[in-house]
Amino acid sequence: MEFKNFSLFINQSKVARFTKDLAEGKIMSTVCKKCGRQYYPPQADCFSCMESEMEWKEVPREGRLLTFTRIHVPPEHFAVRQPLMPFSSVQFEPCPIGLIEVEKGLKIMGWIPKVDIKKIKVGMKMKASPFTLPDGKLTIILEPLNP
Ligand SMILES: [Zn+2]
Repeated sequence: MEFKNFSLFINQSKVARFTKDLAEGKIMSTVCKKCGRQYYPPQADCFSCMESEMEWKEVPREGRLLTFTRIHVPPEHFAVRQPLMPFSSVQFEPCPIGLIEVEKGLKIMGWIPKVDIKKIKVGMKMKASPFTLPDGKLTIILEPLNP
């Protein structure tokens, strides 16, 4: 499986393992073997020390919501391949998307399906999970955890 199976058009063969692990339920990062800097989304090369010796490490899945918004113009994959926004039953109904911080400086972005946007608050605890869309592509969703 290559990166083309992620829900956005990304062709990064050096980090293609990301989607394979995502399909198995794991959200992976890369860690520089030299300086220890952790990258999510995974990077094949460390831009701190310019090393390419990286190792894979699963990221924590729970964190606090830093920010969120609604997507009114969907990414190309969603716009071209399917008429509906993901997680929306009404055409052009925007779906919230958010960013959680799971560790200091480590942030995961994901769709926030099935949650009324009025109930989404910055700082709320959320969990990130891989999710397979109806067409087989993978994405990441965020779900609120009990307060
Ligand atoms: Zn490094």
